[in-house]
Amino acid sequence: MSEVIYLDYNATTPCDSRVLEVMLPYFTEQFGNPSSSTHQVGRWAADAVEQAREWVAGLFGASPKDVIFTSGATESNNLALYGIARAALRAGNPRRQIISLRTEHKAVLEPLDDLALQGFEVQYAPVDAYGQVDLTALAALISEDTLLVSIQAANSEIGTLQPLADIGMLTRAAGAIFHTDATQAVGRIPLNWQGLPIDLLSLSSHKIYGPKGAGALLARRIVRQGLLTPLARGGGQEGKLRAGTQNVPALVGFGYACELMAQEGLAEAERQRTLRDSFEQRLKAALPQVSFNGHPTERLPNTSSITVPGVEADALLMNLPRLSLSLGSACNSGAIEPSYVLTEVGLSRDLAASTFRLSLGKYSEAEALAEAIEDLVVVVHDLSLHN
Ligand SMILES: *Cc1c(COP(=O)(O)O)cnc(C)c1O
Repeated sequence: MSEVIYLDYNATTPCDSRVLEVMLPYFTEQFGNPSSSTHQVGRWAADAVEQAREWVAGLFGASPKDVIFTSGATESNNLALYGIARAALRAGNPRRQIISLRTEHKAVLEPLDDLALQGFEVQYAPVDAYGQVDLTALAALISEDTLLVSIQAANSEIGTLQPLADIGMLTRAAGAIFHTDATQAVGRIPLNWQGLPIDLLSLSSHKIYGPKGAGALLARRIVRQGLLTPLARGGGQEGKLRAGTQNVPALVGFGYACELMAQEGLAEAERQRTLRDSFEQRLKAALPQVSFNGHPTERLPNTSSITVPGVEADALLMNLPRLSLSLGSACNSGAIEPSYVLTEVGLSRDLAASTFRLSLGKYSEAEALAEAIEDLVVVVHDLSLHN
C-alpha cells in the first residue's frame, strides 16, 4: 500500500548501486586531497579524479582535457554564460548579443536576465508549437554582434529535442560561441563531441544515476584557453576554471555513471521509448480527451507531457498519492503559476494548468505503468464528474 511508483526521472534519478559502490572508498581510506601532490595519499585522489574525467569525456568521445568538473548543471550553465560574457568584456571584444530560448531551464534564464542588466543584449529566438527553435528566425537574429548562443539539447518538461548541428553551424558561421544545456539529453540520445559543432556543453550527475552535487561543463580548448573566466577563484583546480577542492567521491560516482551510460544508455533509452509510446497509446485509448505536448518524434524517449482538458493537474496529482509525477518543471511547481514552457509553446493558461509530466527511467517497468494508467483513468473520471 505504501508502495510508490516513481515517474519523475527528469527531476532526479536514484544513484545506481554500482555507482555507490565505486564511491564508498573515497569517503574513508581514499580520503586524500587531489591537490596534495607531495604525497601518495593525495596522488591517489588525483588519479581517481582523472579516471572520472576520462569516463565523462568517454561518454562524448571528448578529450579529458575538455572536462571542467562543477557541482552540477546549474553551476555549469552559470560558468558558461558568465564566463563567456566576462571574458569578452575583459578582452575588449565588442560583441554584446546573446541568443537563447524562452523555454530554457531557469539555470540559463536567470543568469541571462542578470547579464541583460549588465548591458548584454539578450534576445530569444521563437519556437514552434512543439518547442523547436525556428531556424530561419534564428539565422536572422544572429549577427556580427552575436557573442554566444545558448540553446538546450532537450527540454525537461516536454522532451523536445533541438537541432544542435544546425544551430551550431549557424552560430559558428557568425564567429560566435555555441553553448548547450544537455542535462536531459545525456545518455538518452547520441551526443558526439567530435561530430557536433558545440563549444560548451553542460551536464549533471544526478540526472544520470550518479550522486547529487556533481556535474561538468565540456569546453573546447579554444574556449577554455582565453574565452572563459572562472566564477570561483582561489585555487588552480580544473585548469584554473573552477577553484576549490574537488568533491572526490561525487566525481568518482559521476564518472562511473557516465561510463555506465556509455555502455547501457542508448539500448535502455530504446526500452523506455517502447514503454512510453505504449503508455501514451493506452492512455489515449482510455481517455480520448487527453493530448500530448512536445514534438511527436524529435523528443526524449522517456518523457510524456500530458494535458487533460477540464481537470486541474494539481488536484489530479493530489489524488494519485502513489504516483510520483510532476507539474511542469520541479523549480516552479512550488508556485501556482502555470509552466512558462507550456505557455511558450502556445498552451492557454487553463490547458497548462491541466498538464502534468511523466518521465521514465531505467527502473521503470511495464507493470507499474499499467497500474499508473488504471489509477489515472479512475481519478480523471472522478474529477471530471465534479466539474
Ligand atoms: C536538472 C536540470 C538542470 C539543473 O541541474 P542541477 O545539476 O540540478 O543543478 C539544468 N538544466 C536542465 C535542463 C535540467 O534538467
